[in-house]
Amino acid sequence: MISNNAELIDNLEEQEDLIDYTHKVLDFISKDTLNENDRKFIIKETVNNFRDFVNPGFLDYRKSVTKGGQYAAVEWRDAGLNSFIDVNGKEYIDCLGGFGIYNVGHRNPKVLKAVNDQLKHQALHSQDLLDPLRAILAKLLYEITPGKLQYSFFGNSGTEAVEGAIKLAKIHQNKKGKNHFISTVGAFHGKSLGSLSATSKGVFRKPFAPLVSGFKHVFYGDIDMMYKTVRASSMVGEDIAAIILEPIQGEGGVILPPKDYFAKVKEICDQFDILLIADEVQTGMGRTGKMFCTEHYGVEPDIMCLAKALGGGIMPIGAVIATEEVFSEFFPNPFIHTTTFGGNPLSCAAAIATINVLLEDKMPERAEKMGKYFISELRRVGNKYKDIVREVRGMGLMIGMEFENDKIGYKVSKGLFDKGILVAGTLINAKTIRIEPPLTIEKGQCDRVVKALDEVLSNLV
Ligand SMILES: *Cc1c(COP(=O)(O)O)cnc(C)c1O
Repeated sequence: MISNNAELIDNLEEQEDLIDYTHKVLDFISKDTLNENDRKFIIKETVNNFRDFVNPGFLDYRKSVTKGGQYAAVEWRDAGLNSFIDVNGKEYIDCLGGFGIYNVGHRNPKVLKAVNDQLKHQALHSQDLLDPLRAILAKLLYEITPGKLQYSFFGNSGTEAVEGAIKLAKIHQNKKGKNHFISTVGAFHGKSLGSLSATSKGVFRKPFAPLVSGFKHVFYGDIDMMYKTVRASSMVGEDIAAIILEPIQGEGGVILPPKDYFAKVKEICDQFDILLIADEVQTGMGRTGKMFCTEHYGVEPDIMCLAKALGGGIMPIGAVIATEEVFSEFFPNPFIHTTTFGGNPLSCAAAIATINVLLEDKMPERAEKMGKYFISELRRVGNKYKDIVREVRGMGLMIGMEFENDKIGYKVSKGLFDKGILVAGTLINAKTIRIEPPLTIEKGQCDRVVKALDEVLSNLV
């Protein structure tokens, strides 16, 4: 009994400590400005807790992509639409754009207002009655997406949108005896077991084998290989249900396919009764200079996946939208594919406001114009360092800069980070840095990035 009592008191004391700890954190979350002690506390807690409770690998990664002690840079607040500030007050122009989540900028006032307004009367839905914003958002997506895309299912991420797309294609095509899929080398579609089966990178896939069966990968942009794989598959009784493609490969390093690739893939789809799934999770919502990248190719997919920027950089939301012919498979039992938080009122409010901003502020046009300027300026600087810069490519504000090797890519991202510019130079594909700023980026900010790049490159040759 005695030892039990001691344990109880120990537990109580531990609980008191925990409550104090949460108070301390809730207190600094609520603060407008941090003092020196707050800053020290936050940095120490972040680094130590990443090491002990999240994954120490992240600290090693941060060390590899930054100079000196900067790995411990802890982000804290947004600064206008296109920049953010770390705990120590250093400002960064965000040319990573959360890999494409910040199309309408950081904390866009219209999106922020919609979410705050919604929060005033309801946060989440009952899960049983009809919730209005989900229905209204679905109508808006029908209006802005190409072709006959009409019915939407909402989840919380791009991965869930891809899972939904795979399941829709299966339920529709299974009865015709088709249940195989074609994806592409360099593709990224997510990391859940289903979506990972479509993703291509060996390092992400191999440890989790066997994945969902029936996925084949062909080289992206190679229409001959696509045709031959479809034919060969059907000859051996492994008929293709759907082909899943990114209109531009993002994670793969901003890879643009030949101009007529999508149209030709669509022809193959029509010939063999195959569904075309366009994964616009990164290319959608104005990023490439049109609302959806497939519009550049004049191709109407049967299923489209959206996420990332759909929530306006404020709420997570993903959507899979399909034609009535395909989606009607879910009509008899709407509970056949569900998720608790998907399509919740806060996320839908954010997405509706995002669509408003994209249309009213003509964001796709802005991406087109600013992208042209930015790409031409990056090329101008790249041309000065032809020995190390291989290519600048892109569409709208989805831009890739390819270097001669990984080492140079690393050094460039490090140098830019040092100068307060965040780009996507990743551990896996460091040869190409991705530049995906908010579509709201100002010309002066593009100029600052170009100037910094010039300085960084001049130090490398
Ligand atoms: C990011 C991405 C995904 C996965 O989205 P998550 O929200 O990270 O699950 C899927 N497809 C593409 C093309 C992406 O860029």
